[in-house]
Amino acid sequence: MLGCGWTGILSAYFMKKRFPSCDLVIIEKEGECGGLLKSETINGFVVDPVPHVLYSPKNEVIEELLSLLRGNYIKKEKKAFIMLGDKLVPHPFETGIYALPKEERARYGLSLISAYSKASCKGTLKEALEPYGEVANDYLIPYNEKVWKRDLSNLSGRWTCSNRFPRVSLEDLVSAIAGIEPRRKGYFYYPLKGGFASLFNAVYESVCKWAKFIKGAKVESIKKRGDQFIINDEIKADKVVNTIPLKEIISAVEAPESIISDASSLQYNSFISVALGVKGKGFDMDWVYIPTKKVSFHRFVFSSNLSPYNAPTNNYSITAEVTLPLGDKVDLKKVEEKVIDELEGLGIIERKNLVFVKSWYFKYGYPVYDIGYEERRNAVLSYLKDELGIESLGRWGRHEYVNTDAIFEEVKDSVNKFASSNP
Ligand SMILES: Cc1cc2nc3c(=O)[nH]c(=O)nc-3n(C[C@H](O)[C@H](O)[C@H](O)COP(=O)(O)OP(=O)(O)OC[C@H]3O[C@@H](n4cnc5c(N)ncnc54)[C@H](O)[C@@H]3O)c2cc1C
Repeated sequence: MLGCGWTGILSAYFMKKRFPSCDLVIIEKEGECGGLLKSETINGFVVDPVPHVLYSPKNEVIEELLSLLRGNYIKKEKKAFIMLGDKLVPHPFETGIYALPKEERARYGLSLISAYSKASCKGTLKEALEPYGEVANDYLIPYNEKVWKRDLSNLSGRWTCSNRFPRVSLEDLVSAIAGIEPRRKGYFYYPLKGGFASLFNAVYESVCKWAKFIKGAKVESIKKRGDQFIINDEIKADKVVNTIPLKEIISAVEAPESIISDASSLQYNSFISVALGVKGKGFDMDWVYIPTKKVSFHRFVFSSNLSPYNAPTNNYSITAEVTLPLGDKVDLKKVEEKVIDELEGLGIIERKNLVFVKSWYFKYGYPVYDIGYEERRNAVLSYLKDELGIESLGRWGRHEYVNTDAIFEEVKDSVNKFASSNP
């Protein structure tokens, strides 16, 4: 296994379940496994540097994921909002407009109804969002420009087809326009103790009994000699599963120029997260999306609301996320200061009540779907699979904007397919 994030550890877990006698080696660049799924304890606060919650539209997937946590989880009604000027609209916007004054419900409602039949994800992201009229102008376009930090005409509209883009029924939309609060509530799950990393750790603990971990080892070279792979000139393997970014694995194998060029053209955003512990009671919200460009972060999460164990009594915690285009690096202290000022400006914190502030930089945060990325990505994947026999999975291994639940399904399916062709 190349990479020891969620995809790598799950691949090891499912492989061992299907092939109990196989020898498994997991190679990880960092000194610690977990990738995007890590949690830290700071001054009595449990903090996820990358804020996560657990959700799947499929009951069977969520049940399997929860079973990994062996009772260490809570189910929460989702309290997420979109900040529009001085108003908080419950997320998703389509049904959240019920909370707005009737003139605004009518204005946004008309846009949403006319987008209902027109919206398509075939063209650019700009074209996919524009049919949403006033909703696009006030929320979808500024918010997407803020997250992606690119001209939306250069991005593909494809991700608006995914389940990451909320879809509501016409019936629910019309009720919201009439000012009726939705009866159906959204829910999510979160580990009760130990932060979101508890999910990763649950799998890690079962894998670490039998797999060999090589940590602090960047995969830099993979040579294919006959049916065998030689990794970093020392580790021999019969099968390789990749979960590290396509750009990284392609620079490690002996790939043709066209594939090197396709892999290096795949775009991504880095991001900085800033976590704050604050004295005081906090707010009854889980997270808030911020479309306005007057504020640097596009979302902040009240991490202390995700589990009662995430903050000491009468304290609350927040994590704000700021994206950066194409691996840009910036001064973390400057970003922290700006985020503190902005949260204070929004009335969310008072600087004098801060207990701690800590920030992290993540080079690989969001895969970016620029125009034509799919063909280039597919060319790289088929080179890896068809020419080298390397399966590439996960958020970076497939350059897909996927969450932990989708990765769980993908890895399980992939191992099942492999098992049925190698009985
Ligand atoms: C801001 C943000 C919020 C999110 N929120 C949610 C959420 O609420 N719910 C949810 O389910 N999902 C969420 N996700 C998605 C989730 O984090 C990912 O889908 C998942 O963690 C991806 O796991 P992975 O193993 O594919 O990638 P990673 O976690 O990135 O793991 C890749 C691993 O490969 C290692 N690596 C890289 N290069 C090399 C190399 N050359 N050699 C060796 N090792 C290498 C890395 O160090 C890393 O450990 C969120 C993601 C982000 C960025």
